[in-house]
Amino acid sequence: MVSKYVSSKISSITLPSFSRLSELTRGRTDLISLATGEPNFDTPEHIREAAKKGLDQGYTKYESSYGSSDLRKAIASKMKLEVKVDADPEREIVIANGGNMAVYLTFLATLEQGEEVLIPDPTWPIYHTCIKLAGGVPVPYTLSGKEKFILDFDSLKGHITKRTKMIVLNSPGNPTGFVADTKTLESIAALAIENDILIMSDEVYEKMLYDGIKHVSIASLPEMRERTVIINSFSKTYAMTGWRVGYAVAPPEIAAEIAKMNFYTNACPGAIAQRGALAALEGPQDCVREMVKEYARRREVLVKGLSEIEGISCLKPEGAFYAFPNVASLGKSSSEIVEYLVTKAGVITASGSDCGKNGEGHIRLAYTIPVNKIEEGIRRIDKAIKLLRY
Ligand code: PLP
Repeated sequence: MVSKYVSSKISSITLPSFSRLSELTRGRTDLISLATGEPNFDTPEHIREAAKKGLDQGYTKYESSYGSSDLRKAIASKMKLEVKVDADPEREIVIANGGNMAVYLTFLATLEQGEEVLIPDPTWPIYHTCIKLAGGVPVPYTLSGKEKFILDFDSLKGHITKRTKMIVLNSPGNPTGFVADTKTLESIAALAIENDILIMSDEVYEKMLYDGIKHVSIASLPEMRERTVIINSFSKTYAMTGWRVGYAVAPPEIAAEIAKMNFYTNACPGAIAQRGALAALEGPQDCVREMVKEYARRREVLVKGLSEIEGISCLKPEGAFYAFPNVASLGKSSSEIVEYLVTKAGVITASGSDCGKNGEGHIRLAYTIPVNKIEEGIRRIDKAIKLLRY
């Protein structure tokens, strides 16, 4: 029962179903989890060492609500070199407690009550709730897939109204592995310019790309820098999920409001975590290449294994680290399949229905665990699905 002291605005928000699986998983030691988007790798040693040193150097105090100036400078260099975007470290970069917070603060900083934000469907579920909390209205546009997931441009265009403030683009995308090619980005850019719409470009999976695909940020296209907020994070690229360091790169007026909201909610991001993030950007990048190489290997094993199971079809994700197979032909809802797989196979997956209407009929599996565990997971899923079908 909900307490009378609890806000109905908050109690009406439900957690994604994997957070609710605790009942089914409690006390079980035999489980294989393919549910969470969290790298199994340790944070590379030089990053950990930099943070330890930071403690002794006195990085234990409040910092600017924009984040530490060293880290902002390093992000600006990275932006220029890799993303082909110029950003003034003093006025256009704000560091937040994780990409998640950067997303939320950006919505808080930009949305008027009732303004619409176009979000992909299927999507990372967090956008939806953060938009609502900021007073906006999430409006889904379609990502669909035959050979690979693509953005349905007619759906995007068809949902634009006078109230549309922003389009959220997530490439490489969670949960589909969708990657927007340059032509798609150019069409979205033209649409945004024509209708005076802001873009939030969530690029937290920018390094997780396969088959030689290169990351292109919509902010690097002509006339787009001034209407784009790039969201990025150290969580996925450097296996730093628990450190909680992310950032927004935004036009100066928007960045000032994001920093203001940072001040009123978090004061500033953690100083020690930012020392680690600085070492991540300034240090050797071969650790990232090694991790991505391993994700690529896991992707092959997982997609092939899932595709060989009768009743499951799985597109090859071009980026991120999730497979998002279609399980609709099994005749159960996504969340029923997720529950069934936990109970009968001891494998935890996430329900596609958490990711929007178009996610129904799918489950999400993260290839963030070692190959031998993925193989064991597939064997178990295969066995359990056979029982379901016969
Ligand atoms: N954006 C997307 C698409 C994500 O999948 C995630 C995490 O799963 C984030 C942003 C935020 O990550 P973090 O808050 O750990 O930086």
